[in-house]
This record gives sequence, structure tokens and C-alpha cells, in this order.
Amino acid sequence: MRISIIGTGYVGLVTGACLAAKGHDVVCVDIDPARVAALNAARSPIFEAGLDELLRQHVGRRLTATTSLAEAVLQSDVTFIAVGTPFDGTAIDLSYVLGAARQIGDALRSKRGYHLVVVKSTVVPGTTDSAVVPALEQASGKRAGLDFGVGMNPEFLSEGEAVHDFMSPDRIVLGGIDARSVGRLEEVYRPFPDAPRLRVNTRTAEMIKYASNALLATLVSFTNELANLGSALGGIDTSEVMRGVHVSQYFRGCNEEGLPPITSFLRAGCGFGGSCLPKDVNALIAHGQGVGQEMPLLKAVMRTNQEQPARVVGLLEKHWPELRDVRVAVLGLSFKPGTNDGRESPAFPIIRALSDRGAVLNAYDPAAVAEARAALGGVAVNFCDSLGAALDDAEAVVVVTPWEQFRDVPAVLSRRTPQPVFVDCRRAYDKHCVGRYEGIGL
Ligand code: NAD
Repeated sequence: MRISIIGTGYVGLVTGACLAAKGHDVVCVDIDPARVAALNAARSPIFEAGLDELLRQHVGRRLTATTSLAEAVLQSDVTFIAVGTPFDGTAIDLSYVLGAARQIGDALRSKRGYHLVVVKSTVVPGTTDSAVVPALEQASGKRAGLDFGVGMNPEFLSEGEAVHDFMSPDRIVLGGIDARSVGRLEEVYRPFPDAPRLRVNTRTAEMIKYASNALLATLVSFTNELANLGSALGGIDTSEVMRGVHVSQYFRGCNEEGLPPITSFLRAGCGFGGSCLPKDVNALIAHGQGVGQEMPLLKAVMRTNQEQPARVVGLLEKHWPELRDVRVAVLGLSFKPGTNDGRESPAFPIIRALSDRGAVLNAYDPAAVAEARAALGGVAVNFCDSLGAALDDAEAVVVVTPWEQFRDVPAVLSRRTPQPVFVDCRRAYDKHCVGRYEGIGL
């Protein structure tokens, strides 16, 4: 396949050299003539293990460089945008990406045949759809999805190991505005058959990149926040603390889906509860404050958690702006399946909020009805003694705690007319399992 890459920095150059090594014909484009000249002389402008070797093998054959963006676009079938996206102190600076998109659009004006433009730069969610596509359409006078395709393919390489990371990717995110765009992007990555692929829309592709980096950044600051508390308290070696955390079974082995168990904590939902997490995080924040050590990250953790139950109410309000007299069945009252422990269960704030809005509430749990009755004293809710009784007549069904017994609830609801709204508070079900599905983070 003939590929052009705009921007010959860490990402563009490594992408170009590696795709050439995998058998594609690649032309790299940069506005910096010195960079282009170095590349054409098989000299890498950056230091990366293995890169010099790739350039020696492929420059002048399957890999060339130019300052002429238009020529590169006209001579290729796919164009990657891999220019910088710095943070200017206020917001992401998209000027390089949009400048490149306008130049690509200009070139596409005179290009025959279908062309795919792929954003590889890290851009905030919505950029490809709302800024890159209009820039391409305006400059080319053509229509995205008809005359050309648009993809979003974030890069996860890490400097210092960039060639290795590109050649052995842990994942390939194939984002696109339509199936044809994703299909052509898939062809580019055909020489990487073993890497897991995620086929998604462009916004989701953009978000995957930020979610990955934001999680890593959060973990670093989390550890440092605890390290600072450890220093303030004295007598604690944070390296030993973290070793004690690392050996947790959550970080070891794989679950049924082939993923480390810690990933069960990386699911969107209505928040955590139970007898330990809320009280322990609150106690640590208070203990830190006692020795003058603020715990801003953990405070934010608790604040976000307190706000999640309201999201569930919001999902119902999409269907009934006034929830008064709407018949809602709330399933699962314990803080997690398999226990009758209701302490700090998010089911309770959800039920209170729905009751405050005048919804008519049924509630059911295989084990925690007595606990819920005690916790919700004074709240108008009808506790049912069977799942069937709770579902009877419901206009909306909210699964807060996904007990195994609730697995078939979507199938039951699908047979009803009209179909009740189904709210999945833990993203435990397939989003296509019922006609009227609502889930947090969807
Ligand atoms: P970089 O600054 O090293 O390289 C960008 C290159 O683009 C420069 O050589 C510049 O001259 C060139 N350029 C700018 N506008 C141009 C235009 N109109 N035409 C041709 N060339 C142009 O950037 P980078 O580190 O390779 O990062 C590129 C993108 O990839 C960024 O969005 C970054 O966030 C993302 N990313 C970077 C890494 C990394 O480790 N560096 C990893 C993953 C993703």
C-alpha cells in the first residue's frame, strides 16, 4: 500500500520506518528541510533503538522523504497526520493538525479515486469529527465518507522503545467515520496479525488514548500522594508499601476474559460502596489532614464517587423529564453481588433520589432486602420478595448490583410491549441486549 505521513517526529518517523519494514511504500513529509535531507541520507534526526538500522535498510527503496505534502498525498492511498499537538497553557494547540488537514484537502482537490486520511496525532475527543473533517471538506471541495475516508488511529509507542512498541503493538485502535474508512485502515495494519484490534468511532479512538495516559498519570500522582503522607507520618517506606500493593491478586494472572483482575475496577458505573473502600479512603484523608498533609487526589476520588448515583437518575430523566409516578424497579441493593452487605451501597442514594422525584419504586435483592429496609427507613419503596414481582408493570428497570439471577432480565423485558427502559448501572450487559438500553458512559 502507498502511504504518506505528515510530520516526521518521533511518531511520524517511527511509523514510516516500521510500515516500510512491513512492506508498504512510504513517503514521509516534514516542513523542516534539514530533517527531510537527513532522512533521505538514511540519518535519523532522532535517537531511537533500531531506527538507524531500519533507515539503512529501507531509505531510497520503500521509504523516502519530501517537503512537498501535495506530491506525497497524490502519490499515496492513505495519509497519516502525525504532527505535534502541544498544550498551549490553556488548551490543546490544534494549529499543526488543522494546517496539515487543510494542505491535504488542497491536494485531494485534484486527486482521483478514494483516499483515506488518518489522524495519528493525539487530539481531544471530537477533533477528528468536528474540526479535521470540516477542514478537509472545505479545502478539497469533496465530501468525507463519499469521496474520501477519515480514520483516527492513536499511537501508544513510548520513546526509547518506539520501534519495538510499533512493531509489537499491544493494541491497534482502528477509528473511523464509517466502515469503509476502518476497512482501509485495517489493510494498513494487515502485517500485524497478532495485535488485538479495537474497531471504534473516531471519538472513542481519541478518548482511548487520553484514558490510557490519564490513568497512568493518575497512578503516578496517587503513589506520590501516598509517599508524601508516608513521609509526613514517618516510619514508612513507600517502596515497601507499593511492593505490598503490587503483589495483590488484582495485578496477577488473568480473568475469564484474559485480562488482569484489576480491570474490573476500570468499568464505568454508579460508584463504589461497601464496608471498606469509602470508610478507608475517608479515614486516610482525615489522617493526612491531621498531620497537615492534604490528600487532593483522594478527596477528588470521594467527590466523584458521591456524584455518580445522580448519573443514574439523569439516565431516567432522558426518558421522563418528570419522574413523578413513573414505575421503576430497582434490582440489586447490596453493594456488590454475592453479599447481603448493604453498607454504603449506591443503591440507597439512587432510591432516595428517585423517591424524592416521586417515582413509584419496587426494589428487589436476593439477599439484602432486610438491610435495605433498615437503611431506607421512611423512604417510600415497595420491597418485593421475588424478581418477577419487582419487574411486574415496571416502566423502567435499574440494575444497580448485577447479581447472576438478573442475567436474563433483558430477555424478559424484550418480550414486553412497550419495552421498559433498562438502566445498566455497572455496564455489566451488552448494550444491544434490549431495545431501550441506558448505561453510564455510553
Ligand atoms: P514532534 O514534535 O516530534 O514531530 C512533529 C513533526 O511535525 C515536526 O518534525 C514538525 O516539523 C512536523 N510538522 C508540523 N507541521 C507540519 C506540516 N504542516 N507538514 C509537515 N510536517 C509538519 O511530535 P511527536 O512527538 O512525533 O508527536 C506527534 C503526535 O503524536 C502528537 O500529537 C503526540 O502527542 C503524539 N504522540 C507522541 C508520542 C511520543 O512519545 N512522542 C507517543 C504517542 C503519541
